[in-house]
Amino acid sequence: MPSNNFQPLVDFAKHLDKQDSLQRYRKEFYLKPDIIYMDGNSLGLLSKRAERTLLECIDDWKELGIDGWLQGKHPWFYLSEKLGEMCAPLVGASPEEVIVTGSTTVNLHQLIATFYKPKGKRTKILADVLTFPSDLYALQSQLRIRGYDTETHLIRVKSRDGRFLEENEIIDAMTEEIAVMIMPTVLYRSSQIVDMKRLTAEAHKRDIIIGFDACHSVGAIPHSFSEWGVDFAYWCHYKHVNGGPGAVGGLYVNKKHFGTSPGLAGWFGSRKDKQFDMEHLFTPAESAGAYQIGTPHILSLAPLIGCLELFAEAGIETIREKSLSINQYLMDLIEYELADGGFFIGNPREDERRGGHVSLEHPEAARICKALKDNGVIPDFRSPNIIRLAPVALYSSYEDVWKVVQILKKIMSENQYKKYAKKREIIS
Ligand SMILES: *Cc1c(COP(=O)(O)O)cnc(C)c1O
Repeated sequence: MPSNNFQPLVDFAKHLDKQDSLQRYRKEFYLKPDIIYMDGNSLGLLSKRAERTLLECIDDWKELGIDGWLQGKHPWFYLSEKLGEMCAPLVGASPEEVIVTGSTTVNLHQLIATFYKPKGKRTKILADVLTFPSDLYALQSQLRIRGYDTETHLIRVKSRDGRFLEENEIIDAMTEEIAVMIMPTVLYRSSQIVDMKRLTAEAHKRDIIIGFDACHSVGAIPHSFSEWGVDFAYWCHYKHVNGGPGAVGGLYVNKKHFGTSPGLAGWFGSRKDKQFDMEHLFTPAESAGAYQIGTPHILSLAPLIGCLELFAEAGIETIREKSLSINQYLMDLIEYELADGGFFIGNPREDERRGGHVSLEHPEAARICKALKDNGVIPDFRSPNIIRLAPVALYSSYEDVWKVVQILKKIMSENQYKKYAKKREIIS
């Protein structure tokens, strides 16, 4: 369904750019003049503010040495908490419910070690077949540590079409044997948003603890984790938040769980005023901070200060509005220009059900992605047949999107993709 006023000519793209209130942030990012970056859902680009706050932390190290912990411009000792506070509006939580720590996979390990408490018949973990593999590996190893068989104890909700999950089927799988469940907020391939509010309510009716992997939604769509009563969540900051390669991740724990002992304890989870007492008895913080483990990776936290300033200024609601509009424009153009090209738009079409990228399916996706790269467009390939295209609200323009589709049209009409091998690269 094209949006009401869609027009295919470049003038329309230029008109939309003029009306775009976020257009002013484009110059804050390092964009290459001849490259159109459509991969912000895998690794967001560097902004000048992120670079600045990274350099400030390096400067504090240079000038202050160990005193940077308390006296730096951004005192390192409190940086994870400060960033948690800055990140809280992106997930709809209170400041003390969020901590910026670890990585997605490490945080999942921590949260499962903490909240998976098998008892009686309730010993299983519920996930789904479309979940990111690292999450499944983590769940399997957590089951193994407790002596459970991963085949019988990790339940995976199936997908009918390999693209989407049905909330009703997820709810049907919430049996009395499930102790804890994790679900994606936005599916990494198809961009489907799962109904977090509904699943949380249904899980709680059945005494199941529920957590979400929010990697593909944080920085792209708003959340209301506290209001929905979500028990825990975890995510990365190198995708839509633009925190840089290996940026430190995020962790949310609902305040009703404060005081629950961390499954994996470490001294940075201590109450701040007790940490340096060096006692052998651990006194965990009464906040999400309790689930930190060791010394924070300051140089991978530092860019996030600048990134989260940008998000605070631009506002996640405004970002979501543009993201929906620019992704809709991309889909409209694809349908108009590439109708006979063998493409299929594999993401949900309704605004409420789609995240921050378009999932374009084609049997020749791997070769088309290579041709796109050689034409100056950076896409993202997901084996075997998905081209993910993510126009990013803070730095992509409608004219970029227009150009991408013209390039794609040329690649198809000239059969350019046929000169590439069918193999994918090691990272794609
Ligand atoms: C990117 C991503 C991850 C990656 O986890 P890391 O620990 O940061 O390597 C995990 N889950 C999902 C859904 C992702 O999109």
